[in-house]
Amino acid sequence: LSKPSGEEREAREHDVIEFASHVTEFLNRLDGIEYGVLVSEGFPVAYTGMDQEKAETAAALAVDLATAAEVYIADLINEEISSVVVFVKGGRVISVSRSKGLLLLIEGQRRITEEATQIAASYLEGQRLHCSYCGYDITLEVYRCPKCKRNIPFRSDVCPFCGRVVRFKKCPNCGKIITGTGRKVILVKRGDALRLAVIEGLIGGLVIGGLGFIVTMNPVVAVAAGAVGAAVVGGFIYRNAPAEFEAQAQEEKGEASQGQA
Ligand SMILES: [Zn+2]
Ligand SMILES: [Zn+2]
Repeated sequence: LSKPSGEEREAREHDVIEFASHVTEFLNRLDGIEYGVLVSEGFPVAYTGMDQEKAETAAALAVDLATAAEVYIADLINEEISSVVVFVKGGRVISVSRSKGLLLLIEGQRRITEEATQIAASYLEGQRLHCSYCGYDITLEVYRCPKCKRNIPFRSDVCPFCGRVVRFKKCPNCGKIITGTGRKVILVKRGDALRLAVIEGLIGGLVIGGLGFIVTMNPVVAVAAGAVGAAVVGGFIYRNAPAEFEAQAQEEKGEASQGQA
């Protein structure tokens, strides 16, 4: 491999700072994050929620913790360490992780900090998520939880604050309903459920009525069995059909626009 030219190196450094600043913007928009800093070669390249001086202290801490983890802990347990978590009082943690040569240190509420750390790592490693309808990049988007009103990552399936299931939400760009990873979602309406229940109920009733006639050769019994069968089958399907706007994600391959940048 040839050595990178000065220009190439400059371009790469520019990219690192740009990616780092996207991550800190994301952290800044989330609730429950105290501060965050991205560290390259011991220096803070982007930070949020603190001043330059504190960012330098945090950068030094990130380097020390990462070194301790990589040298001592990894040696002790004979396993690579992907992140170190320090517990702070009041349900907060300090998380230090390494991806693509950058150290990321975040202090915040435990669950949101863990989620933000994972998302930032996958982002820095080049993973991008797009809306399957309009192609909008949702990788570092933020979503307001409809229950507790806090800002959480768009890709969270469950609110890290209140536990509300938020698998399906509107794309911030086109407004269509997608999953946190950008997949299309088919909406099933109550009206559709009723129609389905009636059709399936009639088919079920005919089959049961037919069987009743074959077994008993009595048309009255067959009709009665058919009617009961139709009601039971139709009722079962209607009861188990999803409520309006409760949806099923389309899981077919090729539907997701998950990919490498
Ligand atoms: Zn919530
Ligand atoms: Zn969209």
